[in-house]
Amino acid sequence: MAAHADMPRVPVVLSAPGRVHHVALIVRSIEAALGLYRDLLGLELQQVLEIPSDGVRIAFLGIGESKIELVEPTDDATGVARFLAKQGEGFHHVCLEVANLAEELTRLAINGLELIDSAPRRGAEGPVAFLHPRSCHGVLVELIEAPGGPSWRALGYPIEADASATAGRRAARRKSG
Ligand SMILES: [Zn+2]
Repeated sequence: MAAHADMPRVPVVLSAPGRVHHVALIVRSIEAALGLYRDLLGLELQQVLEIPSDGVRIAFLGIGESKIELVEPTDDATGVARFLAKQGEGFHHVCLEVANLAEELTRLAINGLELIDSAPRRGAEGPVAFLHPRSCHGVLVELIEAPGGPSWRALGYPIEADASATAGRRAARRKSG
């Protein structure tokens, strides 16, 4: 559906994304890629996660308020494995943090964007949804909801001191710098 000037619209921006949450890169081997990102470039390795349900291992490296996510397929049947076979290693998607993911998806859909996920779903680091590259100038865009947002509870994430502590630390960092 194309957006049209006569269509009623919700506000252009409810609240602008807070930060680039991560940039995801597909690699053949996380260990090999750490030789560059951790050992030569000096980024801090935060964690390595197996996600059997998605057929991938992922590693997060911290850089400022953002992360670089390395994605290594562990199952040849996944989309990530097909991407690697077809295009080789390289950039896969950028992830922007938003305050209210469900509202953001509604607003984007009303404005004619093609959504891969029409509702927030569980991701390794919080509720996420992907926007189709056809609507994003050729780039796969992921949105993630900031810790403690409404979808965290709706999707059954534990709402613990942890999430609010993370949000608090981030707010404190923003204030101080
Ligand atoms: Zn991602």
